[in-house]
Amino acid sequence: MLTVNAYGATSATEPLAPMTIERRDLGPKDVLIEIRYAGICHSDIHTVRSEWGECPYPLAPGHEIAGVVAEVGAEVTKHRVGDRVGVGCMVNSCGRCVNCEKGEEQFCVEGNVQTYGSIDRDGTVTQGGYSTHVVVTEDFVLRIPDGLELDVAAPLLCAGITTYSPLRHWNAGPGKKVGVVGLGGLGHMAVKIAHAMGAEVTVLSQSLKKQEDGLRLGADHYHATSDPETFQKLRGSFDLIVNTVSAQLPIDSYLGLLAVDGALVNVGAPAEPLSVNAFSLIGGRRSFAGSLIGGIRETQEMLDFCAEHGLGAEIEVIPAERINEAYERVLASDVRYRFVIDTSTL
Ligand code: NAP
Ligand code: ZN
Repeated sequence: MLTVNAYGATSATEPLAPMTIERRDLGPKDVLIEIRYAGICHSDIHTVRSEWGECPYPLAPGHEIAGVVAEVGAEVTKHRVGDRVGVGCMVNSCGRCVNCEKGEEQFCVEGNVQTYGSIDRDGTVTQGGYSTHVVVTEDFVLRIPDGLELDVAAPLLCAGITTYSPLRHWNAGPGKKVGVVGLGGLGHMAVKIAHAMGAEVTVLSQSLKKQEDGLRLGADHYHATSDPETFQKLRGSFDLIVNTVSAQLPIDSYLGLLAVDGALVNVGAPAEPLSVNAFSLIGGRRSFAGSLIGGIRETQEMLDFCAEHGLGAEIEVIPAERINEAYERVLASDVRYRFVIDTSTL
């Protein structure tokens, strides 16, 4: 067992604080990763504040992990010491069910093992990436391609794949009009990726404060959702809308922005339910859907795509002691556009 420095929560209401956590001894298929950077996802905040249900304390969150392989188990074939690697939101799954077989481990019938706060297949509670090292079975370790620096790559492991997957699934590309609701961590990657796929991209943000950034990131258009005119002007215009907002939204208003057969895909995960009026769907044969991260194979595809197109996250690197302040800024929609912890400060 390896005892390592980490930063985590001891209750839903206390600020996060330094702590130590245990990493298991290296099994034959395990990889020991020296973590260099860990992104701060809004899901970390929902989780440690027990907004999605009681979280197991003490808990170090973090599922946007980038680092270097420090040691490998005897039977590891996919990774070598010194490789630049990443770990996202999952660290295990059954590997045998219909969804795992398809490479969609996120939908494992037995439930995927989340990177933190989950019961691993050996019965221990998983601890996340706000730490110096992690041990992960080799199948859940991704290769970070040359050309992507580790700090800007870290957020791709969640924000990147969570937006890439629905954009691919709903065929974002040339001739398609894609709306992105919320310009935060996920939203800014959705803009970059949809633009690189060739779609016409519109940002729908609460205000025009980040308009210049949105256009620079690759959006063709930018509108404020606080302006009721926006919902009139853009009525019936999108093939796909990806909603990345972490809070409740008036879903019917956004469904009204879809063209016939358009889809509103929710990746935002507010604790409160979202409601839909049936007429918002039947009026234009529209869909209201959801999407959860992406499978391991698709995550590697996303990393390769981002490297090929020169897409990293826009980040603000912070020392561990600024994690609580970063949380407050994320909650105030004041993130530009992902906080990344320099884990050498742990
Ligand atoms: P984030 O960086 O905080 O971005 C969310 C953005 O939503 C904000 O920057 C803001 O953008 C907008 N927003 C926030 N509060 C709002 C409100 N009350 N009304 C309207 N807009 C609001 O968060 P994130 O890390 O991107 O995560 C976003 C959500 O996705 C979270 O709920 C997270 O848990 C979830 N998530 C889901 C998956 C999945 O697999 N489905 C994976 C990762 C994260 P503007 O200022 O531009 O309006
Ligand atoms: Zn995340």
